[in-house]
Amino acid sequence: MAAAEATTADTSSTESEVPTEVDIFWLPGEGCDGCSVATLGATDPGIEDLLTGAVPNLPTLNLHHHELALRSGEHYTGGMEAAAAGEGNPYVVVVEGSVPNERLIEGDGYWVSMGKDTDGKPVRMVDWLDRLAPGAVATIAIGTCATWGGVPAAAGNVTDAMGTMDYLGRDYRSALDLPVINVPGCAPVGDNFIETVAHLLLYVVGLGPPLELDALGRPKWLFGETVHRNCNRGAYYEEGKFAEEYGSEKCLVSKGCWGPTVKCNMPSRRNLDGVGGCMNVGGKCIGCTMPGFPDKFTPFFVKPPGATVSTISSTLLGGVMSRLRQKSMKNLDKSTRWGDQGVMDQLYQWQLKRAGTYDMERGLERRPGEADD
Ligand code: SF4
Repeated sequence: MAAAEATTADTSSTESEVPTEVDIFWLPGEGCDGCSVATLGATDPGIEDLLTGAVPNLPTLNLHHHELALRSGEHYTGGMEAAAAGEGNPYVVVVEGSVPNERLIEGDGYWVSMGKDTDGKPVRMVDWLDRLAPGAVATIAIGTCATWGGVPAAAGNVTDAMGTMDYLGRDYRSALDLPVINVPGCAPVGDNFIETVAHLLLYVVGLGPPLELDALGRPKWLFGETVHRNCNRGAYYEEGKFAEEYGSEKCLVSKGCWGPTVKCNMPSRRNLDGVGGCMNVGGKCIGCTMPGFPDKFTPFFVKPPGATVSTISSTLLGGVMSRLRQKSMKNLDKSTRWGDQGVMDQLYQWQLKRAGTYDMERGLERRPGEADD
């Protein structure tokens, strides 16, 4: 599919129209820039691989990021203006940070802006989003602030901060007929984001299937499982062995881990280049990828509801299972061959017999009929 044609969602383009470059416009909202840092840390592929066209068959990505750009002022915003006017390469919009409801202070300042309009007035982040989202091949919300609202949208939210899907609407569809793609996490796994972009680019050039998203716009292959399913402490949970203090290698549900109900691939993907990840480094899951974060997960350092019931039942059942396993393990740890006197006697007899037919000097078994010297 040619992304140049994608602005009209036409999937019938010819091969010659396949784009060789795609722009990516990064819109900063209310956030901490942790998502940008996570993106820079991705390795599989790394963002530099996409920017240099090093991934075979993928178009080269032109990143327009406010903190990484060499250009500033209108030299920087000019690219966004051209894209909004339908000129230039096909493009992706990435929102980082929550979207502030500027209507709250309409005419009385603004919360977030980038650049200035011809009349000298600041262009608000929501204005850029309004201008760019309809023509984008896709709009991706990176991180929990941009996906669900996150910390700026927590109780006491003074800017009426919200997620990108809340702002653009559930019915929003990009030029490629995609809803807002949500890659949550605080901060997200950088590889989750870059992999989503790479998958999207494959789709843009017609070499990959459409992205499989769940009802909330999350890539299914990344957010289809709970943390608990892949946690390296899962066996402790199953055997009813729970941490009594931090630093323990046992299951942390006793310390308030939400892993059994949170959708995230952190334990298997890990944080950076296959290293780290909450439970892998001793931390518990606080639900940072979920729409209700942080309000539904606070206070962080108490047991989640249901944890007491599940730990008691797991302790009872898991305790029995664990004892049975210990028994079984002891048995499996023994070699029946060496531990059984009868077998040992038989083996000894066999060795004696074998020694009688063994040519010690040549180190060979004698052939049948061959005489002993
Ligand atoms: Fe599950 Fe959390 Fe325990 Fe891991 S630490 S096994 S995610 S409850």
